[in-house]
Amino acid sequence: QLTLDEVTKTFQDDDGEIVAVDKVSVDIEDGEFLCVVGPSGCGKSTTLRMIAGLEDITSGEIRLDGQIINDQPPARRNVAMVFQSYALYPHMTVRENMAFGLEESTDMPDDEINERVEQACKDMGIFELIDRKPGELSGGQQQRVALGRAIVRDPEVFLMDEPLANLDAKLKAEMRTELQELQQDLDVTTVYVTHDQTEAMTMSDRIAILNDGVLQQCATPLECYHEPNNLFVAGFIGEPS
Ligand code: ATP
Ligand code: MG
Repeated sequence: QLTLDEVTKTFQDDDGEIVAVDKVSVDIEDGEFLCVVGPSGCGKSTTLRMIAGLEDITSGEIRLDGQIINDQPPARRNVAMVFQSYALYPHMTVRENMAFGLEESTDMPDDEINERVEQACKDMGIFELIDRKPGELSGGQQQRVALGRAIVRDPEVFLMDEPLANLDAKLKAEMRTELQELQQDLDVTTVYVTHDQTEAMTMSDRIAILNDGVLQQCATPLECYHEPNNLFVAGFIGEPS
């Protein structure tokens, strides 16, 4: 179970203090697929980055299976993040991109790393591309590499920040199905940020709706649709994207 307990993030800028995430509390069950939605600037990415450890929290607590993780370095948290921009190293091959994190942050033997990388490539259907560099791959293939890089870590939690946003509609639909199957096969807890209403409604077990850093509702897609907590949720979920 991944728990956010009154997690808050404030940034300082010239005009003073910005509360990017404001006392967000939510329990995410093992194997659950949680979508995080809300208008631009509402704190979605900041929330994910705090879980990943890419951003310090200002106050509150983040726990995984009861253990506080917000004071742990990213590599120790048992979470893996997938970015919209893929964030692959251009000078490294697919194999090297996927192995890099494990080499850097674990003492796993090389042959086990190799085995994991090759298996992840097979799972993602990119085994024949394993010696290419990102520049020699399509957007969809690069996204598969980015997912593969998360899978090799065998994390307890996947964090995904609009992973399909750069893909065209057809590929997006394809990858959506693939991602869902993968998530179910691996039974990995997933926190998935999206702008895409269809994605949130169809992929998630529950949707967390943020506005101005404040959690408005966290419930199943149907509950959010039929029993919105407030006018903001009603307007946001009812709106076609
Ligand atoms: P989008 O849908 O556009 O990606 P988001 O919901 O992911 O938006 P965040 O990136 O989490 O939004 O930003 C939340 C708020 O925090 C915004 O007001 C943003 O300007 C502010 N913010 C984010 N990072 C920083 C930073 N490093 N310094 C100052 N302010 C920041
Ligand atoms: Mg964002």
